[in-house]
Amino acid sequence: MEALLKNILEDSRRFIKEGAVANYIPELAKANADNFGVCVLSNDNQRYCLGDYNVPFTIQSIIKPIILLMALTDTDIARVRALVGVEATGKPFDAFNYSDQALTGEHINPMINTGAIALCTLIRGRSYEEKFSRLLEMTKIITDNPTLEIDEKVYLSEKNTGNKNRALAYMLKAYNMIDADVEEVVDFYFRVCSIKVNCVDLANIAFLLANHGENQKTGERIFSAQYAKYVNAVLMTCGMYDGSGEFALKVGIPAKSGVGGGIMAVAPNRMGIGVYSPALDKKGNSVAGIKALEGLSKTLDLSIF
Ligand code: GLU
Repeated sequence: MEALLKNILEDSRRFIKEGAVANYIPELAKANADNFGVCVLSNDNQRYCLGDYNVPFTIQSIIKPIILLMALTDTDIARVRALVGVEATGKPFDAFNYSDQALTGEHINPMINTGAIALCTLIRGRSYEEKFSRLLEMTKIITDNPTLEIDEKVYLSEKNTGNKNRALAYMLKAYNMIDADVEEVVDFYFRVCSIKVNCVDLANIAFLLANHGENQKTGERIFSAQYAKYVNAVLMTCGMYDGSGEFALKVGIPAKSGVGGGIMAVAPNRMGIGVYSPALDKKGNSVAGIKALEGLSKTLDLSIF
């Protein structure tokens, strides 16, 4: 496995130059495009990490599956489904060209910004401060990393420039889909997107989803199997932005990418994978990260299809 990962990283590295580091959040533009790391946690209790696997980056959209999990856990499937659907939009993650007919729960999903921002309002807590503490706590448990914290610079950078997300949240409010204070809910969303993680943290999230919410080491149940399956299904169809269909063909497992350059990929009942390479394609997915996952999927026959 070490040799396999080494070969895959070597082969995929040349694709870094086909991508570019995100710069619409100014602080993200400072990432080093040469960083490339991977971590695999497998069901036979092995951990394989290579390259820049412990370099920190912000979780960005990879927090969306955790937002979905908490919204499900804090309410129920009926409440989540009433607010946000499950169909792929085929549009960019921050699209806001909704026509009058299109902005309804059915037309958004939990993995695009509009859907994720709507689901933030379902997380329990008397204040957004309390919702944030609960989500951070849950993320620490899921990643098995009690030291997680936010990257203040990235958080402030997005808070100062994230007007598209504000516009999306105001549209949700205009269409009576949320009742929350827009500034509060987007501030919460910016904060949770700014949680600093590394490949090991992503592999842990994926590993738990791969095992449907049960911690393999302790046997403890962290979230329900039913909700894990819900999240994995949505990841399969919507997790890689408007590149999810192509990813299903090439890699064939549920995954979520973030504009920070991370991808967490779930091979059900087999392994959790975290990859990091911040040079992104036009859709916002890590180019070399996808290549590495393609290599792993082919060699280990990971596709669920
Ligand atoms: N915080 C980012 C945004 O909302 C997350 C986007 C992403 O990773 O796809 O623009």
